[in-house]
Amino acid sequence: MPRVLSIIMTLNNDKYLSILEQIRWNGKPKCPYCGSTNATAYKKEKRYHCNSCYTSFSVTVGTLFHKTHVSLDKWFLAIRLVMDSSGGISVRQLAKEIGVNKNTAASMVKRIKEEDLRVLERFVGRKF
Ligand SMILES: [Zn+2]
Repeated sequence: MPRVLSIIMTLNNDKYLSILEQIRWNGKPKCPYCGSTNATAYKKEKRYHCNSCYTSFSVTVGTLFHKTHVSLDKWFLAIRLVMDSSGGISVRQLAKEIGVNKNTAASMVKRIKEEDLRVLERFVGRKF
């Protein structure tokens, strides 16, 4: 991937991480492991160090976005596409729309369908 493009995608991801942080935490980081809000932000990435249980975490822990290599802008788009299409968008179609391979698209659809609708509504900011 060209360097400039990868920087743009990283910025984009940070923007979405900020949105998620607002939705889940009201902007105040909360450790998903022990519930403490005594956390220190890392300087270079949107991760936090918990000063109570000494783990590090980001806002995606415990969400369907956790441990995927797909950028959040693609995730948000995928959620809309999957939820908006009444008959269900095909894996091939989704892969094409958001620019990931078919295996990735298939696992995203699976995660989206397993997720609570109300949670998804909060992420994309509207009702389905
Ligand atoms: Zn903790």
